[in-house]
Amino acid sequence: MEKIRVENLYKSFDGTPVLHGVNLTVEEGDVVCLIGSSGSGKSTLLRCLNFLEEKDSGTIQFGGETIEPTTHSINRLRQRVGMVFQHFHLFPHKTVLENVTEAPVYVMGLSKKEAEAEAFRLLKKVGMQEKSDTYPASLSGGQKQRVAIARALAMKPEVMLFDEPTSALDPELVGEVLETMKQLAAEGMTMIIVTHEMNFAKEASDYTMLIHEGRIVEKGVSKELFDNPQEEPTKAFLSKIL
Ligand code: ADP
Ligand code: MG
Repeated sequence: MEKIRVENLYKSFDGTPVLHGVNLTVEEGDVVCLIGSSGSGKSTLLRCLNFLEEKDSGTIQFGGETIEPTTHSINRLRQRVGMVFQHFHLFPHKTVLENVTEAPVYVMGLSKKEAEAEAFRLLKKVGMQEKSDTYPASLSGGQKQRVAIARALAMKPEVMLFDEPTSALDPELVGEVLETMKQLAAEGMTMIIVTHEMNFAKEASDYTMLIHEGRIVEKGVSKELFDNPQEEPTKAFLSKIL
């Protein structure tokens, strides 16, 4: 079943086009990596999908339903699409547990008790249950990112978007976050992941797509795209980085 469909998505900043007719589809349960040069619009595309950025034109569908921020509640939509950022964005003055329960209590209206029970389950899933009373400042980057993943999952999203989730981490901490993402993938979560971890993209994702000059120029089964890219921009990008 199709989970995400984007058609002819345009977005400019100050008259400079960044997304120039993006088309893509993601099937339910697929793990899709998004690669491309710095400045090519990867973050802008994810931010449009999570309505952190308003598109200029084009359509975005989730599960066959066309989403327009003018007619849908933005908060409800953000609930359906979880987002994990490069720099974690945890609340510094809240404990790990409070970071995970905040939105379920204040946005979804769960009782504190219900939210905490679910938060403990999620923190256990990402291996952070023993740090529930800790503040973010005393966590490693990898631990912070695993808490950020638990926090996003607490909203019971249908889709998870990751924007370079391991780019700010010391190399020895990258693996634990990738493992958490692999586990989520194995459970059937639909995911779009912007990453520079080409091994992860090749080995752990179903499909990889390349964005170039504001369009998705190639999408393929990950192993095939890396071993045998078809389009010139993909060949050029991979030859620069591999
Ligand atoms: P990527 O994530 O692929 O590195 P971005 O989506 O962050 O690329 O940025 C694409 C282009 O859009 C860049 O040229 C960037 O400077 C520009 N851009 C992104 N966000 C804004 C903004 N809020 N205002 C103006 N320009 C922006
Ligand atoms: Mg970016």
